[in-house]
Amino acid sequence: MSVLDNRPALKAEIDKVAEVAGYLWMKGWAERNGGNITVNITEWVDDGMKTLPSISEPRPIGKTLPSLKGCWFYCKGTGKRMRDLARDPMGNGSIIRILDDCGHYEIVADQPVAPTSELPSHLAVHDYLLTKGSPYRASLHTHPIELVALTHSRKWMEKDAATHMLWSMIPETRAFCPRGLGMVPYMLPSSVELAEATIRAIDEDYDVVMWEKHGVFAVDTDVMNAFDQVDVLNKSALIYITARNMGFEPEGMTDAQMKELSDAFGLPK
Ligand SMILES: [Zn+2]
Repeated sequence: MSVLDNRPALKAEIDKVAEVAGYLWMKGWAERNGGNITVNITEWVDDGMKTLPSISEPRPIGKTLPSLKGCWFYCKGTGKRMRDLARDPMGNGSIIRILDDCGHYEIVADQPVAPTSELPSHLAVHDYLLTKGSPYRASLHTHPIELVALTHSRKWMEKDAATHMLWSMIPETRAFCPRGLGMVPYMLPSSVELAEATIRAIDEDYDVVMWEKHGVFAVDTDVMNAFDQVDVLNKSALIYITARNMGFEPEGMTDAQMKELSDAFGLPK
């Protein structure tokens, strides 16, 4: 028995998480228990599900997030591996509801899998998105090898330096990651400072935020789209590295070519 039984729309969302988790593992972006996925599933929760009893005590989020009142989330479990989540999303993640005090949550399904230790920062981002009226419902943190490697150079940590290089490698990256790559300097993983800096970068109008020498944090309407944005960015990094390995600095598309693309596709930047 699963809460996903007879809820095909909800199951489809959770299946997307499992599919993306498998891609993260296959790409080598999710070693050990690395990475996190949190999805706001509130719109797929029906009245019957709302009456289900919790399977945990109320637990503190660690902060009060007023826009999350009545919200439901799927989140990866603490210490769980993406490669295991890909096979069994409900055994390696859990569905939680936010209690009316907006400061506690309880686990509703399917097993008492404790959510990721990153839950407070992921939920803070979701609270920010809802407060802004954003249609984004998914947040993804992962460790894309080539993008992380870029952040080991001061040059690419300069604001929008990496964005322009990555956009110029192939037109699709410009088109499908149209807000570019925000940069956040190194901060302690899981820290309040890192969560706040991430929200500031999203507020500056980036969907994908790079954490120096660590990984990316991406938001989008669903987890598949968040993954796609990271995937096109990392593809560009691979093209750059391939050209460098061939012994030359890649030319990149010209500013005029990128402007033409932006106008043709009605891109935001
Ligand atoms: Zn990480």
